[in-house]
Amino acid sequence: MALEGSQACCLLRLSLFLFLFLSAVSGSHPPSERLMSSASAIRAASNQTKKTAPDVAAEVGRYADVAKRIIERAVFGAAQNRSYRRLADFTDTVGNRVSGSQNLERAIRYMYDAMKQDGLEVHLEPVKIPHWVRGKESAEMVVPRAKTLAILGLGSSVATPPEGIEAEVLVVQSFEELKRRASEAAGRIVVFNQPFISYGETVSYRAFGASEAARVGAVATLIRSVTPFSINSPHTGWQTYRDGVKRIPTACITVEDAELLWRLARNKQKIVVRLVMGAQTLPDADSFNTVAEIRGWQRPEQVVLLSGHLDSWDVGQGAMDDGGGALISWEALSLIKDLGLRPRRTLRAVLWTAEEQGGVGAQQYFKLHKENISNFDLVMESDLGTFTPMALQFTGSDAARKVMEEVVNLLAPINTTKLEAGAEGTDISQWMQAGVPGASLHVADSRYFWFHHSEGDTMTVQDPHDMNLCSALWAVVAYVVADLQDMLPR
Ligand SMILES: [Zn+2]
Repeated sequence: MALEGSQACCLLRLSLFLFLFLSAVSGSHPPSERLMSSASAIRAASNQTKKTAPDVAAEVGRYADVAKRIIERAVFGAAQNRSYRRLADFTDTVGNRVSGSQNLERAIRYMYDAMKQDGLEVHLEPVKIPHWVRGKESAEMVVPRAKTLAILGLGSSVATPPEGIEAEVLVVQSFEELKRRASEAAGRIVVFNQPFISYGETVSYRAFGASEAARVGAVATLIRSVTPFSINSPHTGWQTYRDGVKRIPTACITVEDAELLWRLARNKQKIVVRLVMGAQTLPDADSFNTVAEIRGWQRPEQVVLLSGHLDSWDVGQGAMDDGGGALISWEALSLIKDLGLRPRRTLRAVLWTAEEQGGVGAQQYFKLHKENISNFDLVMESDLGTFTPMALQFTGSDAARKVMEEVVNLLAPINTTKLEAGAEGTDISQWMQAGVPGASLHVADSRYFWFHHSEGDTMTVQDPHDMNLCSALWAVVAYVVADLQDMLPR
């Protein structure tokens, strides 16, 4: 693995060198930014009409030099590995930071101070957030043999009685099977052993398994962790009780234990499990979205927003989900500031609070700022890991897509010139649904769900070079879009 990494790095250096060399000998002299800015300001004032494709290509093309400078600094220069080092310091110091916890408060204070010290304009925007605490929890198979089951209770789950729930188990592989066998579920602990298809599809078992099982009389649920790979680690996450359905305790078990229980059940073995959970939902807590800015020089009210979420689950370090996304959003602003750049519009990094509880911080932000929706140029979120970047995912009109296709061409030095359809991100989805162009990172994420919401989400998952590349991409896209003569067409 280490060899592969260093080879990729060498190739990248070579291609960057060639790129710089070729542009040096081609004799093109892009105008300075200041010149470009004033020239285009005049055009902006006179004309907001549609540009032809060559106009767009020419305008964006003039940013090739500044894009190279950002990339050079992030990947090989003075800022090399900075986002990784900052992430390590942050997550090693603060640790994980679930909604409502003191750790999340410390995390917000830490980032507020750190970004301020970095010379950015920082402020906090208050949000009330859920406060669920896990408490002590355990599960044990007691029949046909004694075996401890590794579990993680699911966010918002109720507790068992203090002595626990001991009950016979019904194992099913799908909601359909549960329906067919509904008459067997009463008084049982229902175990879901659903296969992993994709996170988007399979997560419905974690989200709604408890209520579906309660409808047919189950007393608790144990749900196979939503992951394609396991070394006996349970994965937590939020779950939602359906209105009007009895609330029963619910936890995730490991893939290995789910399959074990399923094999035993298939062989007609009677299985009994004892589950103890001390979970509690406390009154909503005070929290904040953390906002850092570089104010635009010409249209400060217009905004390119880049973001990740600062909260995590209460296991591991939350380095991958979503420390990486938060840190590259800060890093993008640092890179731009380091180079003495200031775009036409405001660059705003937002570190969301309580994403894991259903995007609570982002919903509050939307409520507060949607009256200014016409000033939101582009909303960006990184929340699927900061591994090797493959492409930028984009949601917007065809006209906006044409502009973005030119923007990603500036990323040739790091070989990420692909623009894909469909930006993702819980925290930016409301803006996109309301018509604001959105962007997210597509990274080499095949391992993402191995670690997601588990004790395995630590700094060890992160790679400094990958974070350099993600930071460079994030910074170039945000800066160029924020500095173009016009906002992206809706
Ligand atoms: Zn996340």
